[in-house]
Amino acid sequence: MQSRLRTTIWKDVPETDWDNWKWQVKNRVTTLAELSRAVRLTAEEEGGIRREEDRLPMAITPYFLSQIDSDNPECPLRKQVIPRIEEHFFCSRELEDPCGEEKDSPVPGVVHRYPDRVLLIATEACVSYCRYCTRKRIVGRKTQSIDREQLARACDYISGNKKIRDVLISGGDPLSLCDEKIETVLKSLRAIRHVEILRIGTRVPVFLPQRVTPELVAMLKKYHPIYVSIHFSHPREINPETSRACEMLADAGIPLGSQTVLLRNINDNPVTIKKLLQELLKIRVRPYYLYQCDLAVGTEHFRTPISTGINIIEKLRGHTTGYAVPTFVVDAPGGGGKIPLSPSYFISLVEGRAVLRNYEGKIFEYPEPMDVQRLRLKLCKEEIHEKTPPLLLT
Ligand SMILES: *Cc1c(COP(=O)(O)O)cnc(C)c1O
Ligand code: SF4
Repeated sequence: MQSRLRTTIWKDVPETDWDNWKWQVKNRVTTLAELSRAVRLTAEEEGGIRREEDRLPMAITPYFLSQIDSDNPECPLRKQVIPRIEEHFFCSRELEDPCGEEKDSPVPGVVHRYPDRVLLIATEACVSYCRYCTRKRIVGRKTQSIDREQLARACDYISGNKKIRDVLISGGDPLSLCDEKIETVLKSLRAIRHVEILRIGTRVPVFLPQRVTPELVAMLKKYHPIYVSIHFSHPREINPETSRACEMLADAGIPLGSQTVLLRNINDNPVTIKKLLQELLKIRVRPYYLYQCDLAVGTEHFRTPISTGINIIEKLRGHTTGYAVPTFVVDAPGGGGKIPLSPSYFISLVEGRAVLRNYEGKIFEYPEPMDVQRLRLKLCKEEIHEKTPPLLLT
């Protein structure tokens, strides 16, 4: 399927260039002049792009831009990557570092919040930038990736802490790096004996599926067990290109998970999310987390009430495949970590009787096991009174 932009402004680009991820990165759309050639911008968008001071840069791969509806300002893909003036409205409740990562950072590039796993920021660059990025304080500012010395310090920290059995390589987008750089990071981490699993967090299959090459996949699979979490927002992000990228990763034995941020007027309804999650299962991606949008500066227009997420889970659990149901989490402002929220199916517990409700709202009772002491007492009495058939315990 050829998009309108592919057949207009990029019509002279040969297929070999278009399919080459390095061409895509080199030709990203980063200025108002370039973008307005491709998209009929609204005043809000123009205003958002013009005010450049101290903001997350704009960068959009030609591939992803060609997926948006250039005539519709409400296009859910468009709103994720084209800045709007609302980005410059700051709210006093917003935070530079919404998840309090800096205070849990023992060495630069490492966030150590949970007992047995760490997050490693391998680069601060991405192939395209999401306007609601939770790490917009650092992302897109510097383009160089973790250097040799920083990587050595991070690995020293991990080596020195035997409890760390899981390293989540994040950023920025680690798959925006070249194969050699990614391999250096993976190899260094694999050299640490107590690191059991590696994970990569990425948005490359959505923004730049061309980046998933046979060479990349062949390299990744040398470092198994390795998991990949892919950031998806909308069912329209899934197309033959994304499917091919996910298929190549899955065929290499890499378990794929998804992470989705709830975004106002983009995906904040049960129909869109359910469609997304079901489409993900078809391309072998197992939904993992549904995130409440963090309090990053200039994201008020993206945030939804907490109840939106809980209602979405209510509409999923029981109504569709259990594998399709992610965990809805709020990353607590200031650094409390991820807190799972779910509809309540538990109504009460009185004298060993749990009252529960199912997904249809019907009420059921589950009797808890009897206290072992009480059970023994009943059985003793039974023996004294001569052998009667097993008692019905009440
Ligand atoms: C999300 C996160 C992790 C990984 O959490 P899981 O629940 O294991 O996926 C690890 N460290 C930090 C700092 C995180 O924010
Ligand atoms: S891909 Fe991730 S790190 Fe990069 S801008 Fe989007 S949310 Fe931020």
